[in-house]
Amino acid sequence: MELASLRAKIRDIKNFPTEGILFKDITTLLKDGPAFRYVVDLLAERYQQERVEIVVGIESRGFIFAGALAHQLRAGFVPVRKLGKLPGKTIEVEYELEYGRDALAMHEDAIRPGQRVLAVDDLLATGGTMAATLRLVEQVGGHVVGVAFLIELAFLHGHDKLKNYPLHSLIVYD
Ligand code: AMP
Repeated sequence: MELASLRAKIRDIKNFPTEGILFKDITTLLKDGPAFRYVVDLLAERYQQERVEIVVGIESRGFIFAGALAHQLRAGFVPVRKLGKLPGKTIEVEYELEYGRDALAMHEDAIRPGQRVLAVDDLLATGGTMAATLRLVEQVGGHVVGVAFLIELAFLHGHDKLKNYPLHSLIVYD
């Protein structure tokens, strides 16, 4: 398998979820066993030497990769979710969207101070979601050793918001 064939498995859906958005649909990649495995293997290989203890996944498509990656790296998995979904005591963070604000939550005891954390999401757009997630991780003392995406929409410059972190995207759209 090659990166070019992975890219070919991502489907563009016009005007979803709202007018003017070109949605990158990854379900067409996920349903292909070798393609899904290749994504997880590539990321696992990259972070093998980083002694990752916790893989943080962002609701909901981030969970798919973060769970598989945590398993492969023999690390724990921690979910970052929309408000009101986590049952225990949480810490929360608000962040800016293109229009309005949103918020994310994580269990306050999910990460111990000093633990080595890899944060994963399916796609980097403006970077707001990941930047907010990393604020949660650092609020409880987590040490971010990597930030990984399957897809990066480079023309939205999300990278700029995350420039203090080691960031890696498998597939970049310029
Ligand atoms: P952002 O905070 O702008 O970087 O947005 C990233 C989040 O929104 C990720 O969790 C993505 O799943 C989702 N997202 C944003 N834009 C797109 C897009 N064009 N196609 C698919 N998902 C997207």
